[in-house]
Order: sequence, then C-alpha cells, then structure tokens
Amino acid sequence: MGQKSTIEWTGSTWNPVTGCAKVSPGCLNCYAERMARRLQAMGQPNYTSGFKLALHNHAVDLPLRWKKSQTIFVNSMSDLFLKGIPKEFLMRIFSVMRQAHWHTFQVLTKRSDRLLELSSQLPWAANIWMGVTVENKDYIHRIDHLRESGACLKFLSIEPLLGPLPKLNLDGIDWVIVGGESGPGARPMDSAWVLDIRNQCKGSGVPFFFKQWGGTRKKQAGRMLEGRTWDEMPGREKREMGCCANKLSCPLRLHSPRRPRKALPATP
Ligand code: SF4
Repeated sequence: MGQKSTIEWTGSTWNPVTGCAKVSPGCLNCYAERMARRLQAMGQPNYTSGFKLALHNHAVDLPLRWKKSQTIFVNSMSDLFLKGIPKEFLMRIFSVMRQAHWHTFQVLTKRSDRLLELSSQLPWAANIWMGVTVENKDYIHRIDHLRESGACLKFLSIEPLLGPLPKLNLDGIDWVIVGGESGPGARPMDSAWVLDIRNQCKGSGVPFFFKQWGGTRKKQAGRMLEGRTWDEMPGREKREMGCCANKLSCPLRLHSPRRPRKALPATP
C-alpha cells in the first residue's frame, strides 16, 4: 500500500523524490517544506537532508509491489519536473507508472516548461494523469504547456487560488481542482473567484472538484460551495482510455484502447 493520504482528490502518495525549491507565489507557504522539516526532526530516513532534493532509488519500484488498485499522487513532497532530477530517473518513474497499469497516477507540476521539453520522450499511458498548478493569472501559460504535452488525461490544480482567473481556456482539459490555502499565514480566497471558475467548468463541460476553503481553521471553513460539495472527477471512459475515449486507436500509439490484461512493457 502507498502512504494513505488525507488529500481529498487522491487515495495515497508515493515519493520516489523528496525536496524541492520555490518557483512561484503558490510556493510561499509550501506544505511539503513544513512537513519535510518535521520529518527530518523526527529522524525519518528519507528526510535526513530536510527539504533538499533527494532521489530514493529504493522507492522507485514500490507501486509494482502494491497489488491493490490505488489512486496515487506522485511526489506529494516534491515536483517531478524539477531541473535537478536527472532525465534518466524521471524516465524510470514513468516506466514504472506505465507498467503498473492497475493504478492511477496523478502527477502535478509547476515546472510546465520542463514537462513540455521532455514530453515527447515520456512513455505516456492512460493511467498517468498529468496536472499543472495555476495559482493566479501570471501562470496560465502552464495550461498551454500542459495542453501541448502528450499526456492522455490533463488536469489543473488551482490551489492555492490567489486571484481571479477569468476566461480560462479549458480546451483539452479534463478536470479542474480548486482550493484555498490553509495553515499558518494562509492567504485569503474570494468566493467570487471560485464561483467564476466553477461556472467556467460548467460551461465547458469540465468536471469540477472543490477541495477546501482553507484558512487557518481549515476544518471549520470546510468545503461546501453553494450548499453542497463538488467532487466531480473525469468520466470513467476518459479515465480508462485517456485520449482514445472517442477514437478507434490511440493517435500517439501510446496504448491500446482496451484495458491491457498484462503489465505494459517498460517503454512504448
Ligand atoms: S513546487 Fe510544490 S513542493 Fe515545490 S516548493 Fe513549490 S509548493 Fe513546494
């Protein structure tokens, strides 16, 4: 089993890499940094360097040993497209995700430029969901990079939402998550920004997931929006067949439109 997660939109976490560096305003109160320092103080072996980048060879193959199907957030304690992660290591992680087709992997990055740079060399598969974080209007170019990538299922994590995001281009986007910042120093999120994104998703037919209002009292603030929770997910057909959902065969020749019975080969 992967490490069970309390994050509302996933099931467990897998961290073959830990440690990161701040890249944009969304990183200011980074949860992973706070957690890494806590784990370092507790003597956790994967965090002896605290929040400095560390590659964990022993963790790369773990999902192949987890027989029960899980939804796995990859690198919740880092960013998989960090420059310091060698391409070869990244390829090994993607190869494991492709082989372990009984799991769903959720990869999230703020380094969308490196995602795009390496995309054509990565062994994409329908069970690898790729997302970018967009915290305010200065980072919507990450959506364009994601759209151009070879990922079969593409999603946005708009968390922490730090400003209005009107007129998002949601073409080719399969799922949108919105959330406010939580913890010490949490910056406020205006409900009008959230409702506007929810309406844009509705208008474009994109599933919308509202994670939380956040704030310093996260539990109290809850996750209700207009009297209900919003836990929409990409449709089953899209989840199982990715970009092949409406086509006879994968245009990128990355995977079969039918769910494979045996583990996929390591590379396409
Ligand atoms: S990219 Fe993510 S993990 Fe890295 S510093 Fe920013 S918020 Fe933290």
